[in-house]
Amino acid sequence: MKTTRFAPSPTGYIHVGNLRTALFNYLIARKSGGEFILRLDDTDPVRSTEEYADSIKEDLTWLGLHWDRVEKQSDRVDHYKANAELLRNTGRLYECFETPIELDLKRKKQLNMGKPPVYDRSALSMSKSEIQELRLNRESHWRFKLDLERINWKDGILGDLSIDAASVSDPVLIRGDGQFLYTLASVCDDVDFGITNVVRGSDHVTNTATQIQIIESLGGNVPHFSHHSLLTGSKGEPLSKRLGTLSLRDLRANGLEAMAILSYMSRLGSSEAIELFDNIDDLAENFDISNFGAQPTKFDLTDILPLSKKYISGLDFSEVYDNLKASGVPSDIAPNFWLIVRENISTRAEIKHWWSICSEGVTPVIDKEDIQFIEIAKSLLPVGNFDENTWKNWTSEIKAITGRKGKTLFMPLRKALTGMEHGPDMSRLLPLLQKINI
Ligand code: GLU
Repeated sequence: MKTTRFAPSPTGYIHVGNLRTALFNYLIARKSGGEFILRLDDTDPVRSTEEYADSIKEDLTWLGLHWDRVEKQSDRVDHYKANAELLRNTGRLYECFETPIELDLKRKKQLNMGKPPVYDRSALSMSKSEIQELRLNRESHWRFKLDLERINWKDGILGDLSIDAASVSDPVLIRGDGQFLYTLASVCDDVDFGITNVVRGSDHVTNTATQIQIIESLGGNVPHFSHHSLLTGSKGEPLSKRLGTLSLRDLRANGLEAMAILSYMSRLGSSEAIELFDNIDDLAENFDISNFGAQPTKFDLTDILPLSKKYISGLDFSEVYDNLKASGVPSDIAPNFWLIVRENISTRAEIKHWWSICSEGVTPVIDKEDIQFIEIAKSLLPVGNFDENTWKNWTSEIKAITGRKGKTLFMPLRKALTGMEHGPDMSRLLPLLQKINI
């Protein structure tokens, strides 16, 4: 059984980038019958808000990615304090006094000399009295002292990875104002919650190297890490700047179905074909992280639309009952109405449109050359209730009188009655038309 977590910072909405992270972690936990934790990384009190935390929960619920428990980092500061103390006592956490400007200067100098901008550990060579004196005048931050050796792990997606700790700065775990930073908080949580598998974006690879050492120094078990590639736009351009407009709520507002989004995301960037799944259990059953590649992954919103359309066309009346009701479709007509329109819509929002066609009629679309034809058709339209034979009988009569057949017979009628060139089978739709405006 695997325990995973999705760890967003509540500083924004869920977007397609972190949705992928959420989904992969969710599927790994579900497939193994394990636990999926929603962890809110809200250590930054300025940028984190309750509203965003609520929006994340709402979006995950809409998707159907139900968490087994929620943890908030802001509730766990005592644990971070205790772990920091442990690291201090074992000589792995050391105090530094450089200001951001001084650090920046050091980095620039190193770069000028062609050296990597790695923190030079000068704080480690300060005497006790120097430290005492600096404490009087300056804030201090705390860094984790990395063991300068290679850090190796077998990544679930990237394969064997090896990072030289000497090429990385000792990570800052506590800020000058005493705030515990993500690296420490995340590691403590992963250890305390018994996280077995972590999936996150490949922008975290270097973090993972340092986190492995911190986990080991705390005596914890190192989770199995997998880093998925980052998403790009359809032309390969970085998506990061557009993520603000690719929030899950935007996709939802555009009428995309949750299962279509999840199905797409669970295969995008993998060696397996994208296909629509009916439910999350099937998705989990068929999910395998080792099928994903390291290459940047092209995300194209328009690819979700056909999946969404297919999903809708397979929905039962009972599953869209609320939508039908909200669109004003009377309950006695609703089951039949749904069977007729479901294959012709891409989003549930279109239910309203089709109901308006049925109940209100449309402004007929009539081409010049069809004006007379439609006049004749109108004069032949039977009075009284329409049934499943009405269309056939009516068009046979029109055909006999006008001599038209095939598309020239049917298309002008469809356009006059629905305003559109495509739509449901007219013989099934006609009995639902309550107002005909020709
Ligand atoms: N809050 C971090 C992020 O959203 C979590 C990263 C992690 O999975 O550890 O980037």
